[in-house]
Amino acid sequence: MKAAVVHGVNDIRIEEYPTPKAGAGEVVVKTHVAGICATDIKTLLGLGLPKDLPTILGHEVVGEIAETGEGVSGFAVGDRVGVYPIAVCGKCRYCRQGRHNLCEAEFGLGHGIEGGFAEYVRLPREIVDIGGVVRLAEDLSFEDAVFAEPLSCTLAAARSCRLKKDDQVLIIGAGPMGLMHLKTAKYHGCEVMIADLIDKRLELAGKMGADHVINSGEKNLHDEVMRITAGRGADAVIISLGIPQVIEDNMKLTAKGGVCNIFGGPPPSEIKLDPRWLHYLEITLTGTFASTPADFRECLELIHNKSIIVSDLLSHTFTVDSFLDAVEKAKNQEMVRGIVTFT
Ligand SMILES: [Zn+2]
Ligand SMILES: [Zn+2]
Repeated sequence: MKAAVVHGVNDIRIEEYPTPKAGAGEVVVKTHVAGICATDIKTLLGLGLPKDLPTILGHEVVGEIAETGEGVSGFAVGDRVGVYPIAVCGKCRYCRQGRHNLCEAEFGLGHGIEGGFAEYVRLPREIVDIGGVVRLAEDLSFEDAVFAEPLSCTLAAARSCRLKKDDQVLIIGAGPMGLMHLKTAKYHGCEVMIADLIDKRLELAGKMGADHVINSGEKNLHDEVMRITAGRGADAVIISLGIPQVIEDNMKLTAKGGVCNIFGGPPPSEIKLDPRWLHYLEITLTGTFASTPADFRECLELIHNKSIIVSDLLSHTFTVDSFLDAVEKAKNQEMVRGIVTFT
């Protein structure tokens, strides 16, 4: 099969690779669409690159069942499916609590096993057993369905932020994930402020329903948020980028009793905070990493029934042959969301 194979830091090549076979309990999916995520680019550039190389990245995968291994029931070759990308044990303390993303034995597509930037992808027994291979509705396109995985991470964040109708939410960063937070917060009935330094992104956020767009390079974000919230701050602050200083500066915009969520994965670092702020204002400071299989399935349904529109997030479509171009564009942050199509 043809695949985008990672050989080392910033060394990715389009080449022939052995087509995977389904072992007992496993399925092989013929990839139709794979989404390109910031995590893939971070990994390619060396952050968390697996030790065992070469490997294949890509954890946002939709396609059709190509092969089912011994003992797999409920799927037929040709079934259209979406894939929850984390292999979880289903048995540990966290899995039993439904917090599968924190599984003590987790691995997954692009970290531990080969991912979806390839014509075929093998899904281990753990993903099949947890209900992570989900049949797609007939009228749900692959191009829309591929957004379920990243969107599910914003749904998980909305839960940890306890978002509810009429909450005032501040999203820091209007990149692709920031825009998905926006859509998820609007779905929950919130009033959304979104801040970024790039006008083009903010313009897009405005089109997607943001109530307030703030260029924090031109305006004082603190003053703007206090003006909009009558001096209270935001009920939820979602920091959708991984810059420690940005986290430290903006968590203070959380209202009394509110939640601040560190969503974008930061590098190793330290931030300063005044413990009195947590205590007297009863602030919840939290983070969200990935999502659960239930979040993933819910997002497929939210996309299918058009509760959340994702098609306007898609900005670039590539093929495996133009994949290196996709990587360059992703590195330079030239696209909102890019996908790779196969077939
Ligand atoms: Zn992702
Ligand atoms: Zn587990």
